[in-house]
Amino acid sequence: MEKIQKCDVLIIGAGPAGASLALYLAEEGIGAILIDKKAEIDNPVRCAEYVPAAISRLFDGPISGISCLTATMDTYIEYEYANTISSPGFMLDRPAFMKSLINNFTENGGRFLPGTRAVSFNDGHGICGKQGKKQKEWQNNDPGMVSTKIQGSNGERSVVKSKIVVGADGPNSTVGKHIESTNSGYISGLGENIPIEAKDKKKTLIFFSPEIEGGYGWLFPKKDSINLGIGCQIPGKNMDLKALYNSFKRKVASMGLLKSTGDLIPAGEMAAGLIPSSGMLKKTVSGSFILAGDAAGLTNPITGAGIYNAVFSAKIISGIIYRTLEAGDHGPLAMIEEEYKNTFGISLGRAVEKRKMLISEWKSAAGFGDKKSFEKLIRQCWVSFRDYWRI
Ligand SMILES: Cc1cc2nc3c(=O)[nH]c(=O)nc-3n(C[C@H](O)[C@H](O)[C@H](O)COP(=O)(O)OP(=O)(O)OC[C@H]3O[C@@H](n4cnc5c(N)ncnc54)[C@H](O)[C@@H]3O)c2cc1C
Repeated sequence: MEKIQKCDVLIIGAGPAGASLALYLAEEGIGAILIDKKAEIDNPVRCAEYVPAAISRLFDGPISGISCLTATMDTYIEYEYANTISSPGFMLDRPAFMKSLINNFTENGGRFLPGTRAVSFNDGHGICGKQGKKQKEWQNNDPGMVSTKIQGSNGERSVVKSKIVVGADGPNSTVGKHIESTNSGYISGLGENIPIEAKDKKKTLIFFSPEIEGGYGWLFPKKDSINLGIGCQIPGKNMDLKALYNSFKRKVASMGLLKSTGDLIPAGEMAAGLIPSSGMLKKTVSGSFILAGDAAGLTNPITGAGIYNAVFSAKIISGIIYRTLEAGDHGPLAMIEEEYKNTFGISLGRAVEKRKMLISEWKSAAGFGDKKSFEKLIRQCWVSFRDYWRI
């Protein structure tokens, strides 16, 4: 007989969306269980760790895990300085940030199950498992509750029964597959945390260059280190993301931006990950299921930034879940899609259009061989230039 646990809300995924939602719900006294397939959250860190300072408005208390404060963003095109904009933000030590959210959640009475994967769901409307494949019927004797089959890292399976399931399970969401609403495009990112200091810790640096197709390289400062990486269109079979990154790293090393004696940057901890780039999903709520953060396609397809929107989506969801549980029916959940549209629709819509332009014109703009056409395209498609914001 499988063990059964019950709660009002099961949150799948303890990234920024899931962990902040868990905390918001616990603060409202709502019984939630938070699970994550990883035994250790954010190990390795698949993120460049920059968030706009406005994120602090989404939390009542101070934010933990800030590595350093940044003030501006410099953009380089073909490794030549192009412009600077004001961009106040935080460079996070993301594992510390995540740990503090999760600790606050458990201290407020929440249950966190690390090393636990959501495998399949039974809401009485068909069952879906890993990779979206229908699985053998198993019983759900509790109408009105979703039964989620979970599996611990020791292979043991059990069931969580909840009134609501939130898929905060990232770009390749299992919950999204269950409700047949998934991201359709991705940027491939590769970053490295390197124990070397940036000369100017107030600046985040962005680099556009033809070989980093449909994306950019970044050099972000941290207290005692840097986060260096590239994000680009999923490389074709003949393109090696790591080789591309290494050549970017050599280029940056020679630019005098680091506190180093030579032009060799030491090796650090490297991690690759996917960034959704197809924009906000049309369906983010279905019955008792809700999608949040990357699972809902809320990442910006131009900047690749998704932490702020992930936490914002959690804030939106938490208020509506509260009303739903009070009302005792799922009606209010429909408001989530409306709120998502009102909050993220315009900025993500613009970014989706700019991404389409960037991808369709990249090869020809980069291929002319003159810097002007490439620079023109970047000025139209990157957030630090006025042309990006023109209607
Ligand atoms: C290389 C790279 C650099 C980036 N840099 C930045 C940046 O500087 N700033 C920024 O704002 N954004 C950045 N992003 C994007 C940012 O990381 C995401 O937008 C953000 O993490 C989304 O949060 P989330 O909680 O929705 O999803 P995630 O952070 O992906 O968390 C999802 C969690 O769900 C878990 N999970 C998945 N499936 C299951 C399952 N079946 N059962 C249980 N658990 C499951 C995963 O283990 C994971 O912990 C970057 C992304 C990449 C790849």
